[in-house]
Amino acid sequence: MAPADLFCDPIPNWIDGREQPALSGAWFEKLNPADGRLLCRAARSGSGDVEQAVAAGRKTQLNWAALPSVRRGMILYGVVTALQRERAKVARVVALETGKSYASAMGETDGAVELGFFFAGEGQRLYGRTTTSGTPDRYAMTVRQPLGVAGLIVAANTPIANVAWKVFPALICGNAAVLKAAEDAPATAWLFAKIAHEAGLPPGVLNVIHGYGEEAGAPLVAHPGVDVLSFTGSTAVGRRIGAIAGGRLAKLSLELGGKNPLVVCDDADLENASKWVLLSAFSNAGQRCAAASRIIVFESIYEKFRDMLVERAGNLKVGSLDDDDLGPVINKKQLDSMIRAIEGSVQRGAKVLTGGHRLMDAEHKKGFYTAPTLLEQVDPGDELSMTELFGPIACLYRVKDFAAALSMANDSPYGLTACIHTRSLDRAVHFSQKVQAGVAVVNAGTYGSEPHMPFGGLKQSGNGSREPGTEALDVYSTLKDIYVNVNPASA
Ligand code: NAD
Repeated sequence: MAPADLFCDPIPNWIDGREQPALSGAWFEKLNPADGRLLCRAARSGSGDVEQAVAAGRKTQLNWAALPSVRRGMILYGVVTALQRERAKVARVVALETGKSYASAMGETDGAVELGFFFAGEGQRLYGRTTTSGTPDRYAMTVRQPLGVAGLIVAANTPIANVAWKVFPALICGNAAVLKAAEDAPATAWLFAKIAHEAGLPPGVLNVIHGYGEEAGAPLVAHPGVDVLSFTGSTAVGRRIGAIAGGRLAKLSLELGGKNPLVVCDDADLENASKWVLLSAFSNAGQRCAAASRIIVFESIYEKFRDMLVERAGNLKVGSLDDDDLGPVINKKQLDSMIRAIEGSVQRGAKVLTGGHRLMDAEHKKGFYTAPTLLEQVDPGDELSMTELFGPIACLYRVKDFAAALSMANDSPYGLTACIHTRSLDRAVHFSQKVQAGVAVVNAGTYGSEPHMPFGGLKQSGNGSREPGTEALDVYSTLKDIYVNVNPASA
């Protein structure tokens, strides 16, 4: 399918159930990362557009919240089944916007569908608690209540998953939402809103605005009519958002970056470990908050394992087709900053084992492709070891034993995911307990959570919130205590 059959160009906002250009009439350009060509233009929104979207959300939210949550769940069920019906189209759009293969985009779309079904079902639960009271003839319980308007800001790395991850839990709780789409994935967000609208989601319940972070995201964060904010993106931007949201005491969930360790012990199955290192470091071109970028290897197997990795990384196929292993990064700015980071580390003594450059052959030179890159001799305290690059780049570190591996794994400003490869139950359990991360994995890769499980990180990887899973309900709802006092004498 050609882009023209998948989405309109230019791409408007969705406000109050209607498509609207930005008030300024301005558009920004979105390039296809696979070939560097113009893919589409999208509304370059500003504070006036945000104002309209928040007003639409506020106008409709009380009616949406007044529906029993079971009924909201049925409406969302209709949205998810429509998303599932349109999965081929959605996956095509995701593939075009990100440059990833159709197969990989389809996997992501199916994940979004799975998550949607989970949250539609939560409409039949939304449990509170009944408990005892210390006072006779008093009955105590909690109920979940919506917060109002949810401001949702997302990254572009897995566009349909990122949208679904926030919209479904926000809506099932009875909030209206204003989604600030990622500027590198406007078509996916537009298509999601269109599918939701056509499936019967009432106007104004989900509003989507496009634009740049400073111009369209910042006014959403600052808006007093936004009761809860959920942000997925970089730690630097998350910190700025945290300061502004904190200033007005808005509820906030931050899902931020990672510099995730994967430890390979001397007793590991090296075949399995090498397969998972390559997947963890390079799938989605390393543009995963959960990607493994610090590969910590016991010294007794270091050379052998390094050589296995280097050989296999050199055989990875880079491109946008289904039999390719990884695609391009999302834009030129991202590509340039990664290459600069590699060059800087080499000047400080790092050694490139494989990759380390932009792919400039005829097949790749127009797109934003980096060769899968492995480095060694990077100081654990070096900027490259401490900063997330969000690309297909990983560093290998040599450690003498388990204690040193655990210590290095934890010596990071981030704490999102971590993995260990070992056949020892003692090492596996001790690592899982002691590693400072929101997710610990034994004998596989570093990855995000399943839709029904909580995901989030420690330290600079977040602010302690967890999405999705039922824990996301805690982000998008508030608890109210209700005490019912009765007088048995008048019964
Ligand atoms: P980014 O922080 O630059 O942008 C993310 C979103 O924030 C975009 O929509 C952008 O327009 C918006 N934004 C930028 N400045 C803003 C501002 N001042 N106010 C409001 N909004 C603003 O991140 P990115 O480079 O697009 O995405 C990559 C980052 O996302 C990585 O750090 C990655 O680890 C992180 N990420 C985290 C998770 C997670 O669940 N923890 C998942 C995916 C991606």
